[in-house]
Amino acid sequence: MKILVLNCGSSSIKYQLFDMTTTTVLAKGLVQRVGMAGSTIDYRKGDAGKKKVYECDVLDHKIGIAKIFELLTTGEEAVLKSLKELDAVGHRIVHGGDKFSSSVLLTDEVKKAIRDCIVFAPLHNPPNLKGVEAVEDILPTIRQVAVFDTAFHQTMKPEAYIYAIPYMFYEKHRIRRYGFHGTSHRYVASRAAQLLGRPLNELKLITVHLGNGCSICAIDKGQSVDTSMGHTPLEGLAMGTRCGDLDPALILHIMKQYELTIPEMDNLLNKHSGVLGISQISSDLRDLEEDWPNKSERANLALDVYSHRIKKYIGAYMAVLNGCDAVIWTAGVGENSPIVRSIVHRDMSWLGIKLDFEKNEVTWRGAEGDITTPDSKVKVLVIPTNEELVIAQDTIECVS
Ligand code: ADP
Repeated sequence: MKILVLNCGSSSIKYQLFDMTTTTVLAKGLVQRVGMAGSTIDYRKGDAGKKKVYECDVLDHKIGIAKIFELLTTGEEAVLKSLKELDAVGHRIVHGGDKFSSSVLLTDEVKKAIRDCIVFAPLHNPPNLKGVEAVEDILPTIRQVAVFDTAFHQTMKPEAYIYAIPYMFYEKHRIRRYGFHGTSHRYVASRAAQLLGRPLNELKLITVHLGNGCSICAIDKGQSVDTSMGHTPLEGLAMGTRCGDLDPALILHIMKQYELTIPEMDNLLNKHSGVLGISQISSDLRDLEEDWPNKSERANLALDVYSHRIKKYIGAYMAVLNGCDAVIWTAGVGENSPIVRSIVHRDMSWLGIKLDFEKNEVTWRGAEGDITTPDSKVKVLVIPTNEELVIAQDTIECVS
């Protein structure tokens, strides 16, 4: 079965075409600057083929997706004879509210539910929907599947998802913790069970997803019981440009003091905070880690705040789970930053974690592995995430 996976953002479209009979990637790439001047499309044949970059006008998502189809089916690097070979399309959809606890076949009703959730994810759900509708326009009979970032966390109990504000906000407006990165947390948890050689339904796991956005999840017997992102992806860990947890009174105080409007405050918390805000150097951890610890005091402070927050959540989730078999690190920073992993796991032996600093140093760039000493009661694993594969697998399950 040939499955196309699409992740449509406001100005980008990530795509990956799988042959699920052999679980191989036939082609993948990224459309950038959708709706802007200077749009480009990257195309890579296979998982590790040479990247080709094409410049072209991509005025909207439909044009972007039509170009992807063209690259997949024409020219020297084509991987499909025609679009008839395509069996289904799976979409990453950020917010499914509390309606969806698993992936579903896209119907008019599901599209309406995604539209109803725009109020919760105004930056993400609209482009996600544009992607669905663009495919519908080009290939009206193809089956499409929605895979939600929020679905995995629907197993959380009310004590984890209810905020301590008047209950009316939950009852009337569904204001609650939803959690995100569910596809990634789910994938690395099940991969961890395989690596540990134990059934997932016997394990207590803490998964740490550190990309541009960062979240951590407590998983008991394969089910999410708590996670750090909340009603929106702003809560929890300190991120590249997002503040994460904050004293809510500060928002009122800063807005008053600097006479900021709501969009200005929103911009400050989402785009100018996190490690960028503290360091005033970069939101990219590679820039802060360059020459660590001698780069600058502020670079070190940003890394320390970032790491301290992760350590604090790991401790909290060990309490929530009443134990922990393994902590799993994933995504851009989690997979590639021995520095952050070592700051976080330094001095955690009382909690049963003993890092093997040598193994930690050499585990990155797509490597999978255990980075603890043999006598560490709690294992620490590095597992590269693969959200696209989960979307492809869910798509097959929903269309079969
Ligand atoms: P996204 O959340 O967009 O999917 P990724 O999971 O690819 O992002 O993570 C991107 C982040 O990963 C970058 O901002 C960067 O800080 C971090 N990163 C990537 N490579 C490294 C590295 N070698 N060392 C430290 N951080 C890295």
